[in-house]
Amino acid sequence: MTLPPLKEVIARHDLRAKKSLGQNFLLDLNLTAKIARAAGDLSRGTTIEIGPGPGGLTRALLEAGAQVIAIEKDARCQDALAEIAAHYPGRLEVIGGDALALDAASLGEAPRRIVANLPYNVATPLLIGWLRRIDAFESLTLMFQREVAERLTASPGTHAYGRLSVIAQWRAQVKRLFDIAPRAFTPPPKVVSSVVQFRPRADAPEAEFALLERVTAAAFGQRRKMLRASLKSLGDAAGLLAEAGLEPTARAEEIPIEGFCALARALAGSLTRRAGD
Ligand code: SAM
Repeated sequence: MTLPPLKEVIARHDLRAKKSLGQNFLLDLNLTAKIARAAGDLSRGTTIEIGPGPGGLTRALLEAGAQVIAIEKDARCQDALAEIAAHYPGRLEVIGGDALALDAASLGEAPRRIVANLPYNVATPLLIGWLRRIDAFESLTLMFQREVAERLTASPGTHAYGRLSVIAQWRAQVKRLFDIAPRAFTPPPKVVSSVVQFRPRADAPEAEFALLERVTAAAFGQRRKMLRASLKSLGDAAGLLAEAGLEPTARAEEIPIEGFCALARALAGSLTRRAGD
Protein backbone atom coordinates (compact mmCIF):
# COMPACT_ATOMS: atom_id res chain seq x y z
CA MET A 1 0.00 0.00 0.00
CA THR A 2 1.35 3.44 -0.87
CA LEU A 3 0.71 6.60 1.12
CA PRO A 4 -1.96 8.93 -0.34
CA PRO A 5 -0.92 12.23 -2.00
CA LEU A 6 -0.29 15.06 0.50
CA LYS A 7 -3.07 17.22 -0.98
CA GLU A 8 -5.56 14.46 -0.21
CA VAL A 9 -4.17 14.08 3.34
CA ILE A 10 -4.56 17.81 3.95
CA ALA A 11 -8.14 17.78 2.68
CA ARG A 12 -9.16 14.60 4.54
CA HIS A 13 -7.77 15.82 7.89
CA ASP A 14 -8.89 19.41 7.27
CA LEU A 15 -5.38 20.78 7.79
CA ARG A 16 -6.07 24.32 6.64
CA ALA A 17 -2.83 26.24 7.19
CA LYS A 18 -2.73 28.44 10.29
CA LYS A 19 -0.69 31.61 10.08
CA SER A 20 -0.22 31.69 13.85
CA LEU A 21 1.75 28.42 13.58
CA GLY A 22 3.85 29.60 10.62
CA GLN A 23 2.30 26.93 8.41
CA ASN A 24 3.43 26.89 4.77
CA PHE A 25 3.37 23.29 3.64
CA LEU A 26 5.88 21.99 1.10
CA LEU A 27 4.10 19.50 -1.14
CA ASP A 28 6.60 19.21 -4.02
CA LEU A 29 8.17 15.76 -3.72
CA ASN A 30 11.25 16.75 -5.74
CA LEU A 31 11.99 19.51 -3.24
CA THR A 32 11.35 17.46 -0.11
CA ALA A 33 13.69 14.78 -1.55
CA LYS A 34 16.28 17.49 -2.36
CA ILE A 35 16.25 18.72 1.26
CA ALA A 36 16.59 15.16 2.59
CA ARG A 37 19.55 14.58 0.22
CA ALA A 38 21.18 17.84 1.30
CA ALA A 39 21.10 16.62 4.91
CA GLY A 40 23.63 13.90 3.98
CA ASP A 41 23.76 10.28 5.14
CA LEU A 42 20.66 9.71 7.27
CA SER A 43 21.19 5.98 7.81
CA ARG A 44 22.86 6.33 11.22
CA GLY A 45 21.58 7.84 14.47
CA THR A 46 18.55 10.12 14.73
CA THR A 47 17.04 12.69 12.41
CA ILE A 48 14.97 15.22 14.34
CA GLU A 49 12.32 17.10 12.41
CA ILE A 50 10.63 20.20 13.82
CA GLY A 51 7.09 20.89 12.61
CA PRO A 52 6.35 17.94 10.28
CA GLY A 53 2.83 19.28 9.57
CA PRO A 54 1.10 16.86 7.16
CA GLY A 55 4.44 15.05 6.76
CA GLY A 56 5.85 15.85 3.28
CA LEU A 57 9.45 16.29 4.40
CA THR A 58 8.97 13.51 6.98
CA ARG A 59 8.18 11.05 4.19
CA ALA A 60 11.29 12.13 2.26
CA LEU A 61 13.48 11.64 5.34
CA LEU A 62 12.03 8.17 5.98
CA GLU A 63 12.41 7.29 2.30
CA ALA A 64 16.10 8.26 2.59
CA GLY A 65 16.53 5.72 5.40
CA ALA A 66 16.27 7.97 8.47
CA GLN A 67 15.10 7.08 11.95
CA VAL A 68 12.92 10.13 12.67
CA ILE A 69 11.73 11.90 15.81
CA ALA A 70 9.31 14.67 14.83
CA ILE A 71 8.00 17.42 17.11
CA GLU A 72 4.70 19.02 16.09
CA LYS A 73 2.72 21.60 18.05
CA ASP A 74 -0.48 21.36 15.98
CA ALA A 75 -2.57 18.48 17.34
CA ARG A 76 -4.61 18.42 14.09
CA CYS A 77 -1.60 16.83 12.33
CA GLN A 78 -1.36 13.79 14.63
CA ASP A 79 -3.66 11.47 12.64
CA ALA A 80 -1.92 12.20 9.33
CA LEU A 81 1.46 11.57 10.97
CA ALA A 82 0.19 8.35 12.57
CA GLU A 83 -0.59 7.04 9.06
CA ILE A 84 3.01 7.69 8.03
CA ALA A 85 4.31 6.04 11.21
CA ALA A 86 2.22 2.95 10.42
CA HIS A 87 3.70 2.85 6.92
CA TYR A 88 7.27 2.86 8.30
CA PRO A 89 6.96 0.64 11.41
CA GLY A 90 9.33 1.58 14.23
CA ARG A 91 10.95 4.42 12.25
CA LEU A 92 8.88 7.49 13.16
CA GLU A 93 8.17 8.80 16.64
CA VAL A 94 5.96 11.87 16.87
CA ILE A 95 6.13 14.12 19.92
CA GLY A 96 3.17 16.49 20.29
CA GLY A 97 4.26 19.82 21.77
CA ASP A 98 6.30 22.99 21.50
CA ALA A 99 9.81 22.54 20.12
CA LEU A 100 10.91 25.65 22.04
CA ALA A 101 10.25 23.78 25.30
CA LEU A 102 12.12 20.60 24.31
CA ASP A 103 15.80 19.76 24.48
CA ALA A 104 16.44 18.31 21.01
CA ALA A 105 20.06 17.56 21.97
CA SER A 106 18.91 14.67 24.17
CA LEU A 107 16.44 13.00 21.78
CA GLY A 108 17.21 9.56 20.32
CA GLU A 109 20.60 8.07 19.59
CA ALA A 110 23.67 9.98 18.38
CA PRO A 111 24.68 11.05 15.80
CA ARG A 112 21.80 13.55 15.84
CA ARG A 113 20.89 15.97 13.12
CA ILE A 114 17.96 18.35 12.72
CA VAL A 115 16.20 18.78 9.38
CA ALA A 116 13.26 21.16 9.18
CA ASN A 117 11.14 23.54 7.21
CA LEU A 118 10.91 25.85 10.21
CA PRO A 119 7.86 27.83 11.31
CA TYR A 120 9.14 31.34 10.51
CA ASN A 121 7.72 32.95 13.63
CA VAL A 122 9.97 30.89 15.95
CA ALA A 123 12.84 29.99 13.58
CA THR A 124 15.44 32.32 15.15
CA PRO A 125 14.85 31.41 18.84
CA LEU A 126 14.88 27.72 17.89
CA LEU A 127 18.16 28.15 16.02
CA ILE A 128 19.81 30.08 18.89
CA GLY A 129 18.85 27.26 21.28
CA TRP A 130 20.43 24.64 18.99
CA LEU A 131 23.56 26.74 18.44
CA ARG A 132 24.07 26.77 22.22
CA ARG A 133 24.24 22.96 22.05
CA ILE A 134 25.75 22.65 18.58
CA ASP A 135 28.29 20.00 19.61
CA ALA A 136 25.38 17.63 20.27
CA PHE A 137 24.50 17.70 16.56
CA GLU A 138 26.22 16.43 13.45
CA SER A 139 24.43 19.09 11.39
CA LEU A 140 21.35 21.30 11.16
CA THR A 141 19.70 21.58 7.73
CA LEU A 142 17.02 24.25 8.01
CA MET A 143 14.75 26.35 5.87
CA PHE A 144 14.47 30.07 6.66
CA GLN A 145 13.17 33.17 4.96
CA ARG A 146 15.88 34.26 2.51
CA GLU A 147 16.47 37.50 4.38
CA VAL A 148 17.31 35.52 7.56
CA ALA A 149 19.54 33.16 5.53
CA GLU A 150 21.42 36.19 4.22
CA ARG A 151 22.00 37.46 7.74
CA LEU A 152 23.15 34.01 8.90
CA THR A 153 25.79 33.78 6.17
CA ALA A 154 26.81 37.47 5.93
CA SER A 155 30.47 38.57 6.02
CA PRO A 156 31.86 41.59 7.91
CA GLY A 157 31.50 44.85 6.02
CA THR A 158 28.13 43.96 4.52
CA HIS A 159 24.73 45.38 5.38
CA ALA A 160 23.35 41.96 6.42
CA TYR A 161 26.20 41.32 8.90
CA GLY A 162 24.86 41.48 12.46
CA ARG A 163 24.29 39.64 15.74
CA LEU A 164 22.87 36.56 14.08
CA SER A 165 25.84 36.30 11.66
CA VAL A 166 28.33 36.49 14.53
CA ILE A 167 26.60 34.00 16.85
CA ALA A 168 25.91 31.48 14.05
CA GLN A 169 29.35 31.65 12.39
CA TRP A 170 31.12 31.55 15.75
CA ARG A 171 29.55 28.18 16.59
CA ALA A 172 29.14 26.65 13.13
CA GLN A 173 30.25 26.52 9.54
CA VAL A 174 27.22 28.03 7.86
CA LYS A 175 26.37 27.38 4.22
CA ARG A 176 23.39 28.58 2.19
CA LEU A 177 22.52 25.61 -0.03
CA PHE A 178 19.62 26.64 -2.29
CA ASP A 179 16.52 28.81 -2.52
CA ILE A 180 12.89 27.72 -2.89
CA ALA A 181 10.29 29.92 -4.57
CA PRO A 182 7.06 30.87 -2.76
CA ARG A 183 4.90 28.95 -5.29
CA ALA A 184 6.31 25.62 -4.03
CA PHE A 185 4.39 26.06 -0.77
CA THR A 186 0.73 25.84 0.21
CA PRO A 187 -0.17 28.60 0.95
CA PRO A 188 2.70 30.50 -0.71
CA PRO A 189 4.61 32.74 1.73
CA LYS A 190 5.33 36.37 0.76
CA VAL A 191 9.09 35.78 0.48
CA VAL A 192 11.63 33.38 -1.02
CA SER A 193 12.93 30.65 1.32
CA SER A 194 16.51 29.36 1.62
CA VAL A 195 17.90 26.08 2.94
CA VAL A 196 20.89 26.67 5.21
CA GLN A 197 23.22 24.08 6.70
CA PHE A 198 25.18 24.36 9.96
CA ARG A 199 28.01 22.07 11.05
CA PRO A 200 29.76 22.45 14.41
CA ARG A 201 33.08 24.33 14.18
CA ALA A 202 35.95 22.50 15.82
CA ASP A 203 38.02 25.71 15.84
CA ALA A 204 35.47 28.11 17.39
CA PRO A 205 37.32 30.92 19.23
CA GLU A 206 36.80 30.89 22.99
CA ALA A 207 33.92 32.98 24.34
CA GLU A 208 30.93 32.61 26.66
CA PHE A 209 27.66 32.44 24.77
CA ALA A 210 25.84 34.91 27.05
CA LEU A 211 28.71 37.42 26.96
CA LEU A 212 29.03 37.22 23.18
CA GLU A 213 25.29 37.90 23.03
CA ARG A 214 25.78 40.95 25.28
CA VAL A 215 28.64 42.48 23.30
CA THR A 216 26.96 41.90 19.94
CA ALA A 217 23.65 43.32 21.26
CA ALA A 218 25.44 46.46 22.45
CA ALA A 219 27.58 46.86 19.32
CA PHE A 220 24.89 46.20 16.71
CA GLY A 221 22.15 47.90 18.78
CA GLN A 222 23.79 51.14 17.66
CA ARG A 223 25.56 49.88 14.56
CA ARG A 224 26.28 53.30 13.08
CA LYS A 225 28.12 54.50 16.17
CA MET A 226 31.80 53.95 16.88
CA LEU A 227 32.41 51.10 19.32
CA ARG A 228 33.77 53.44 22.01
CA ALA A 229 30.25 54.92 22.14
CA SER A 230 28.08 51.87 21.44
CA LEU A 231 29.81 49.73 24.10
CA LYS A 232 29.38 52.26 26.93
CA SER A 233 26.52 50.24 28.40
CA LEU A 234 29.03 47.44 29.14
CA GLY A 235 31.22 49.63 31.38
CA ASP A 236 34.72 50.86 30.51
CA ALA A 237 34.34 50.72 26.71
CA ALA A 238 37.84 52.06 26.00
CA GLY A 239 39.40 49.51 28.37
CA LEU A 240 37.46 46.62 26.85
CA LEU A 241 38.42 47.66 23.31
CA ALA A 242 42.09 48.02 24.23
CA GLU A 243 42.11 44.60 25.87
CA ALA A 244 40.43 43.08 22.81
CA GLY A 245 42.93 44.80 20.48
CA LEU A 246 40.19 46.71 18.61
CA GLU A 247 40.18 50.29 17.36
CA PRO A 248 37.84 52.48 19.47
CA THR A 249 36.74 54.27 16.29
CA ALA A 250 35.72 51.05 14.50
CA ARG A 251 32.04 50.24 13.95
CA ALA A 252 30.31 46.90 14.67
CA GLU A 253 29.95 46.06 10.99
CA GLU A 254 33.75 45.99 10.47
CA ILE A 255 34.58 43.59 13.31
CA PRO A 256 35.15 39.92 12.41
CA ILE A 257 33.89 37.05 14.62
CA GLU A 258 37.25 36.70 16.40
CA GLY A 259 37.11 40.40 17.37
CA PHE A 260 33.72 39.96 19.06
CA CYS A 261 35.01 36.85 20.85
CA ALA A 262 38.01 38.88 22.10
CA LEU A 263 35.56 41.51 23.37
CA ALA A 264 33.47 38.85 25.14
CA ARG A 265 36.66 37.53 26.81
CA ALA A 266 37.62 41.08 27.84
CA LEU A 267 34.13 41.57 29.31
CA ALA A 268 34.43 38.27 31.21
CA GLY A 269 37.71 39.51 32.69
CA SER A 270 36.27 42.87 33.69
CA LEU A 271 33.18 41.26 35.31
CA THR A 272 35.43 38.92 37.31
CA ARG A 273 37.57 41.87 38.45
CA ARG A 274 34.47 43.87 39.41
CA ALA A 275 33.08 40.91 41.39
CA GLY A 276 36.40 40.67 43.26
CA ASP A 277 36.42 44.39 44.23
N1 SAM B 1 7.31 20.29 7.57
C1 SAM B 1 6.08 20.69 6.93
C2 SAM B 1 6.33 20.97 5.47
O1 SAM B 1 7.50 21.16 5.11
O2 SAM B 1 5.36 21.00 4.71
C3 SAM B 1 5.45 21.92 7.62
C4 SAM B 1 6.34 23.13 7.71
S1 SAM B 1 5.54 24.57 8.32
C5 SAM B 1 6.56 25.84 7.66
C6 SAM B 1 5.98 24.65 10.05
C7 SAM B 1 5.41 23.56 10.95
O3 SAM B 1 5.86 23.79 12.29
C8 SAM B 1 3.90 23.52 11.04
O4 SAM B 1 3.45 22.20 10.90
C9 SAM B 1 3.56 24.06 12.44
O5 SAM B 1 2.38 23.53 12.99
C10 SAM B 1 4.77 23.61 13.22
N2 SAM B 1 5.08 24.44 14.40
C11 SAM B 1 4.88 25.77 14.56
N3 SAM B 1 5.34 26.18 15.75
C12 SAM B 1 5.88 25.08 16.36
C13 SAM B 1 6.52 24.86 17.61
N4 SAM B 1 6.73 25.86 18.46
N5 SAM B 1 6.93 23.60 17.91
C14 SAM B 1 6.73 22.57 17.03
N6 SAM B 1 6.12 22.74 15.84
C15 SAM B 1 5.71 23.97 15.50
